[in-house]
Amino acid sequence: MTKKRVVIVGGVAGGATCATRLRRLDENAEIVVLDRGPYVSFANCGLPYYVGNVIREESKLLLATPTLFQERFNIEVRTRNEVTGIDREGCTVAVRDLETGREYREQYDALVLSPGAAPICPAWPGVGLPGIFTLRTIPDSRQIRDWIESKSPRKAVIVGGGFIGLEMAENLAHRGIAVTIIELANQLMPPLDREMAEYAREHLVAHGVRLRMGDGVAGFERSGDTGLVVHTQAGAALNADLVVLAIGVRPETNLGLDAGLEIGDRGGIRVDRQMRTSDPRIWAVGDAVEVRNLLTGEWELVPLAGPANRQGRVAADAICGRDAHFNGVQATAVCGFLGLTVALTGATEKALRRAGIEDYQCVYLHPNQHVSYYPGAHAIHMKLLFRKPDGLVLGAQAVGESGVERRIDVIAAAIQMKATVFDLEEAELCYAPQYGAAKDPVNLAGMIAANVLRGDVTLAPWQELDATDAYLLDVREPFEFRRDSIDGTVNIPLGQLRARMSELPRDREIWVSCGIGQRAYYACRMLTQHAFRARNLSGGYQTYRVMYPVE
Ligand code: FAD
Repeated sequence: MTKKRVVIVGGVAGGATCATRLRRLDENAEIVVLDRGPYVSFANCGLPYYVGNVIREESKLLLATPTLFQERFNIEVRTRNEVTGIDREGCTVAVRDLETGREYREQYDALVLSPGAAPICPAWPGVGLPGIFTLRTIPDSRQIRDWIESKSPRKAVIVGGGFIGLEMAENLAHRGIAVTIIELANQLMPPLDREMAEYAREHLVAHGVRLRMGDGVAGFERSGDTGLVVHTQAGAALNADLVVLAIGVRPETNLGLDAGLEIGDRGGIRVDRQMRTSDPRIWAVGDAVEVRNLLTGEWELVPLAGPANRQGRVAADAICGRDAHFNGVQATAVCGFLGLTVALTGATEKALRRAGIEDYQCVYLHPNQHVSYYPGAHAIHMKLLFRKPDGLVLGAQAVGESGVERRIDVIAAAIQMKATVFDLEEAELCYAPQYGAAKDPVNLAGMIAANVLRGDVTLAPWQELDATDAYLLDVREPFEFRRDSIDGTVNIPLGQLRARMSELPRDREIWVSCGIGQRAYYACRMLTQHAFRARNLSGGYQTYRVMYPVE
């Protein structure tokens, strides 16, 4: 039997998974992994925590070594060996040994590209100055640690308020460094819908992180021996002893481009459902490829470890002739910083709009992560998106201090199984006072959405509050109303509503609000049964106020 020779470029998430799966499927294959870095199979996701000294030993980041690959899997791993070109006709790759400078060719029957994505680093003036870092590899994290330990920085500027930027904010704060984040967009965490990202903004500000939203970097300048000045587009000059650039990643497609492989509109390598590129002998996985969004059907770049691992496995299966498929991504992700967890799965509202999908509805809810009588209850702010009229679950976002990721994981699994909001309503989830509630937040999300679809309640969007000529009714208690209220609202507490219905107009719609939407729902049910046209302000005062904070 001829041995199949599989060459894999990149030996971390996608590449390492592919290599070991190949071995489990084919004991005879020759498997060679080439990586230009000094390590393979390292925990890139752990790097921010190594910088923050939460993970104290560098060795903990190494999940496997070349020796382990050799001994356990009979896989040949060559680190510090960079693949510089692909000869598709001859089925070889050109390799440069970065230690010796030797150049050689490696023959393949199947080639797997898992080269990942590189941090975006624009050519800003002064971007190469000492003290300005990006974070992708163990050596990158070591350099930042060394800088912290040798220069004792007091102030850091993080450019970019996405997942890595916020994890770095937490870890630099953990080191006692005052952090300013510069974010060009008008919200943090770009994948989220803006009103959900606002909770992250509030939390960071409350924890002393300074934010410059809607501003970008213009350039950097040295100040004194090791200090830096960050000049912003809006004309600010920020002093910093350390700068981290975290403005996103770009797929590493040079090899694919030079070899003439098809590249998609989003800039990633195009693959089919078996992760095969436009060349039938070449597969590509991980951050370098474009993937179909399961909900919108759009091609996307989703640089996450879970999809990279699953794709590596599918590619290995396909190379071995198995009928495995990668069906697409839901972009399920989670991020924690300074005690807050933000998680999402499936489509966001902005993704649906971008894809031209209009037959959807969303509901907001703000339940506690567990029953309120058990100590330590905190709100989870949730947004659930579903299709009209059948209630297919399309996506969810949640923010809170505890219990967030569990709810999003449940909904992620539900989306994968094509569940509807009626299924969420019925889901039987575990409960004891310290963990949840008999009506779990996932059930509540399903119930609220199902109420809307069944016509039990109609929602009023907070985005249209300014323009509506509806009668605005607030059914909270007077002490809550006096503390703060939406301009133009009239307060009739829920307990007095039946007796005071004569005060309400019959010729206008009534938009009812309360703290989080629950009392307003009761009020809406009461009013509609008395032939008023009532709508519940979506998300209640809570969602409105996060978008229109009190000055
Ligand atoms: P990588 O894991 O980046 O591996 C690519 C490898 O290919 C690299 O070692 C590189 O040196 C090598 N390579 C590239 N070109 C060549 C070449 N020409 N020749 C030889 N070798 C080459 N995802 C999550 O889901 N959750 C998280 O919490 C999370 N946190 C993260 C934190 C940080 C700081 C970073 C950087 C990423 C994080 N990610 C996270 C993203 C996740 O790590 C990636 O999605 C995943 O590693 C992608 O796997 P990959 O195999 O495509 O690429």
